[in-house]
Amino acid sequence: MPSCAYESRWVNDDVRMFRATVRQFVQKEFVPAQDRWREQHGCDATAWTAAGRAGILLTDVPEEYGGGGGTFAHEAVVLEELALAGVHFGSVIQSIVAHYILAYGSEEQKRAWLPRMARGELVGAIAMSEPAAGSDLQGIQTFITNGGQAGLVCLAAKTDPKVMGVKGISLVVVETSGLPGYRVGRSLDKVGMHAQDTCELFFDDVRVPLANLLGPAEGKGFSQMMDRLVYERLGVAVSAVAVAERAVAVTRSYVKERSAFGKPLIDFQNTRFKLAECKTAAHVGRVFVDSCIERFLAGQLDDITAAMAKYWLTDWQCRIVDECLQLHGGYGYMTEYPIARMWTDSRVQRIYAGSNEIMKELIACSL
Ligand SMILES: Cc1cc2nc3c(=O)[nH]c(=O)nc-3n(C[C@H](O)[C@H](O)[C@H](O)COP(=O)(O)OP(=O)(O)OC[C@H]3O[C@@H](n4cnc5c(N)ncnc54)[C@H](O)[C@@H]3O)c2cc1C
Repeated sequence: MPSCAYESRWVNDDVRMFRATVRQFVQKEFVPAQDRWREQHGCDATAWTAAGRAGILLTDVPEEYGGGGGTFAHEAVVLEELALAGVHFGSVIQSIVAHYILAYGSEEQKRAWLPRMARGELVGAIAMSEPAAGSDLQGIQTFITNGGQAGLVCLAAKTDPKVMGVKGISLVVVETSGLPGYRVGRSLDKVGMHAQDTCELFFDDVRVPLANLLGPAEGKGFSQMMDRLVYERLGVAVSAVAVAERAVAVTRSYVKERSAFGKPLIDFQNTRFKLAECKTAAHVGRVFVDSCIERFLAGQLDDITAAMAKYWLTDWQCRIVDECLQLHGGYGYMTEYPIARMWTDSRVQRIYAGSNEIMKELIACSL
C-alpha cells in the first residue's frame, strides 16, 4: 500500500505478480479462518500444506531444495500481505529456520528438511534467547512461535557448559516427532496475536544425534545467530511498516464515515493533523525499510542498520497504531474494529526478535 505515488524500487513485475497471487490466497484461505485460529490459539494444521501448495513458504530458498527460488523481495511480499490482511501465520519463522539450515546445514540436512518445510509438511520453530541469558539443552524453557506445531526446532543450546559465555553455544536441529523428553507446554494466553501459536517448549534430558548439529563444529552457535538475526529483524521491520500503513488506511476511511458535532471526524483539524503526522511517519518508515530491503538484496545490510530498522520501525508502528486508535474513539477499543487488533498485536513487536533496548545496545556499540 504505497503512500502518495511512491512505489518501492524492489518491486518489479515478477514481485508484483507474486503479490497478486499471495493476496488472493490469503484473502480466500486465511482471512475467513481468522476467528477460528484466534479461538484455537493457532492456525489449522492444514494451513501449512495449503500455503506450501500456494508457493508462499520458503519463497527465497533455491528450487533445488524445494523453495520458490526467489529473493527476500518475495518474502517481504508475503510478510506485507499477511500484515495488510491482519493475518498471523508463522511463515516468517519457517523461513528463518530454513535459512539457518541453508546457511550452515550439510547437503544431507538440506535435502532432508527443506523440501518438506517448503511443502508445509514440517513446521519450523526457533528457540533461542539473547546471548547474555544463554540456554541449556537440559531444561531450556521459553515462549516459542509455532511451538505447538513444530516438527523441527532450531535450538540454541549450551553444548559445552565448561566454556563460559557465548563460546559454548551451538545450534542443534531437534526433530520433535516421538522424541523422548520433548514436551510442548500450554498455549500461552497473550495480550494480542491470538491466532499465532505460541507455546512453552520443554527439553528434559533430550538426546539429539550429532548429525543434527548445524555447522562443522560445536560452539559456533553465537556467531551463526548474529549472522542470521539480520534476516529476522528485517522481517519484523517489514511487517511493522505494513501494519502502520494499514492503520493509516483504515483510520482514513473511518474518520470520513463517522460524524461528531454534525460533521465528519476528518473535518476536525486535530483529526487531519494527527492523521497527516501518522501518514508522514509511515512514509518515512516505508522509505527506510525499502532502503534496508534493497541493501539486503544486494548483500549489504549490516547488523547495526537492521537493529535500527527493527527498533525504530516497531516503535513507530506502536505510536501510529495508538494514535489511529485514538482517532476511532470508543469503537477503536472494540475488537471487531481492525485497529483494536492492530493495537494489541503490535505491542510485542518491540519485545521479540531482540527487544528494542537490546537493539539500542547494539547500535550504541557502533558509536
Ligand atoms: C509472542 C512472543 C513470541 C516469541 N517467539 C519466540 C520465538 O519464536 N523464539 C524465541 O527464541 N523467542 C521467542 N520469544 C521470546 C522473545 O524473543 C523474548 O521475549 C525477548 O527476546 C525478550 O527477552 P525476555 O522476555 O527474556 O526479557 P528480559 O531479557 O527479561 O528483558 C526484560 C526487560 O529488560 C530489558 N533488558 C534486558 N537486557 C537488557 C540490557 N542488556 N540492556 C537494557 N535493557 C535490557 C529488556 O529490553 C526488557 O525491557 C517470543 C516472545 C513473545 C512475547
